[in-house]
Amino acid sequence: MDGEEYVGRKFRTVFLERDLRLDESTLKEFLRVSRALASEDMAEANAGNISVRESEGMLIKAGGRSFKELMREDIVKVVDYDEKTNTAKVCGRVEPSSETPMHWMIYQEFPEVNAVVHAHDQLVLKKQGLAGELGITITKKKVSYGTLEQAREVVEALRKSDYVLIRDHGSVSVGRNLGEALDELMKVHRRFEDEGEV
Ligand SMILES: [Zn+2]
Repeated sequence: MDGEEYVGRKFRTVFLERDLRLDESTLKEFLRVSRALASEDMAEANAGNISVRESEGMLIKAGGRSFKELMREDIVKVVDYDEKTNTAKVCGRVEPSSETPMHWMIYQEFPEVNAVVHAHDQLVLKKQGLAGELGITITKKKVSYGTLEQAREVVEALRKSDYVLIRDHGSVSVGRNLGEALDELMKVHRRFEDEGEV
């Protein structure tokens, strides 16, 4: 893949509190979906991230943590992300995913969305040239990861579909819960899988 090299987070983090209490059922679902992504081979180099909406902000996977071995401590709560100052306010012990701005903006724009799954789906990327033919929404420009520009491209594309392929980067799907978003992501993955090599 000719994607951009990972250089770290492109926003600032302010930690409000180190302690984060997690609801048991939310935690369980978070870990279930993380492991499902790992077992489907979509967790290359620990890239990709998932989040759920909270009454105040969102819970999101920490940056660079393994989906396969995700633990309670690897989930943080982002209570605010300010575009102007490019700053995230966080409860938890570790830095949130580098793609926090994209997740945040999706929840701001789509009140019906409660969960976001993002994976660097190598199989789909390899065959991204087939997106048009398969009726899959794909972003137009190649954008740099973790930026507001990427977030805006994805939000625009999500107006058309619950699944979006970010050109040269990966897949994003949204749903009313994590299970639904994961199912959508896998459904598209299988469609590409059924297509021959290109
Ligand atoms: Zn990504």
